[in-house]
Amino acid sequence: MRTLFVSNRLPVIVEKKAGVWTSHTSSGGLVTALVPLLKRGGGMWIGWPGPSEAQGAELEGVLEQFSEQQGYRVAAVPLSTQDYQRFYQGYCNEILWPLFHDLQSLCNFNPDYWTSAQKVEQAFADVVEAHAQPGDLIWVQDYQLMGLGRVLASRGLQNPLAFFLHIPFPPPDIFMKLPWRLDVLRGLLQYEVIGFQTRRDLANFADCVHKLLPEVERRRNPEEVRFEYEGRTCAAGAFPIGIDFEEFAEGAASPEQDARLEELKAIYMGRQIILGVDRLDYTKGLPYRLRAFARALEKYPELHGRVTLLQVVVPSREAVPQYQKLKAEVEQLVAQINGRFTQPGWVPVHHLFRHVERTELLAWYRLADVGLVTPLKDGMNLVCKEYCACQVEGNGVLVLSEFAGASEQLGKWAVEVNPYDIDGVAAAIREAVLMPPETRRIAMERLRANIREENVYWWLEQFLAECRVIQEERTERFTTPLAR
Ligand code: UDP
Repeated sequence: MRTLFVSNRLPVIVEKKAGVWTSHTSSGGLVTALVPLLKRGGGMWIGWPGPSEAQGAELEGVLEQFSEQQGYRVAAVPLSTQDYQRFYQGYCNEILWPLFHDLQSLCNFNPDYWTSAQKVEQAFADVVEAHAQPGDLIWVQDYQLMGLGRVLASRGLQNPLAFFLHIPFPPPDIFMKLPWRLDVLRGLLQYEVIGFQTRRDLANFADCVHKLLPEVERRRNPEEVRFEYEGRTCAAGAFPIGIDFEEFAEGAASPEQDARLEELKAIYMGRQIILGVDRLDYTKGLPYRLRAFARALEKYPELHGRVTLLQVVVPSREAVPQYQKLKAEVEQLVAQINGRFTQPGWVPVHHLFRHVERTELLAWYRLADVGLVTPLKDGMNLVCKEYCACQVEGNGVLVLSEFAGASEQLGKWAVEVNPYDIDGVAAAIREAVLMPPETRRIAMERLRANIREENVYWWLEQFLAECRVIQEERTERFTTPLAR
């Protein structure tokens, strides 16, 4: 089955270098996993090409070149800057993102955003319709494009439609705040397959349908929920996304990394490194984490001089005022902790506000004695999986928020925390730092075995297998004579 993969952004960066338009691929586990699928099946990736100045024929030329270099086709959805801003910065970042992460008080339910979102969905549908051939699987990605299924179905497209939500799905009490809740829910039911990251998200979605659309028939199995709506069947399941484990593990174990590890160990002089790596985002719980670290230093003086918190914060959505405020808050907290606890030869928090090169990130993942991952809510959280994959010596401890999607798979071998519980996280930091080597080794082995097995290729295969099953059932339904 050929796949048309549709996402908000194309995995391509278009730039002008020395007066010539060039393109290169943006990296990431999802891109790595999908490329073989698109190459093999002759599929295509459809999305917005980003805010480049290249337009019309010029843009098409660059993308053509990109397609040739990468071995799969891409198609651009043209959007005006204003539409994209209202849709992406407005509808997606100011409404759906905070709401779906349970932070309803941060939402700005501006009706103009909804209008723009619908316009953008039409523009995406135009491009999908122009390229879809009978039988192609149209696989839509993530919360930005939830409504695309509704538009495609209303245009009478007969192709199988699938959707994967990378972020959490909220429980009814929160979802019901969305002014367009029925449109969104009905739209989602137009997909034949919906993938969520966790069973928690699947249950929330089923509860929302039950509460807001009680007429929809539901059948719950242990692994999935089937909905019957307007003559269509929608199968929803949990498919936790993974990483390319081998790429991280091998990258972290390379000879260059051995040398870098020795250098870093010499710099940190036997101190335990507690590592945090997060995008600047209020869902990541950075202020709570820093307060918990301060609390740990306050309550447990035995940690003084013994631990360093290496906190990487990757700049993100800097145009949004809430993010600027968060940056200032993080900087202030770091300054307060360092001002209060620093001693000659020991600065407790090393804060980096920048994007980190992949090789350096792998070195830190491998070096760190504790991976501190405490989002307030997260669809999955890949950082915790990458950290464990790079723990080639197997001595690290994962401290993990119970509200990260990854906790369903990894929680039992991590030190699980409620990120809002400052005393609890402080105690978990101490527990992790003092954990005996044998306990660390056993837990890290289990974590790594799970992440190795349930990797990004496994995720892709599980999801596509579900799409094939649903397709076969549909074919059978349409070809089985009624009399039989
Ligand atoms: N990452 C990055 N640049 C950095 C540090 C990290 O691109 O300087 C990557 C990291 O390797 C991981 C991703 O950012 O793959 C973060 O994914 P996660 O699911 O943890 O959180 P998200 O940012 O998607 O909410």
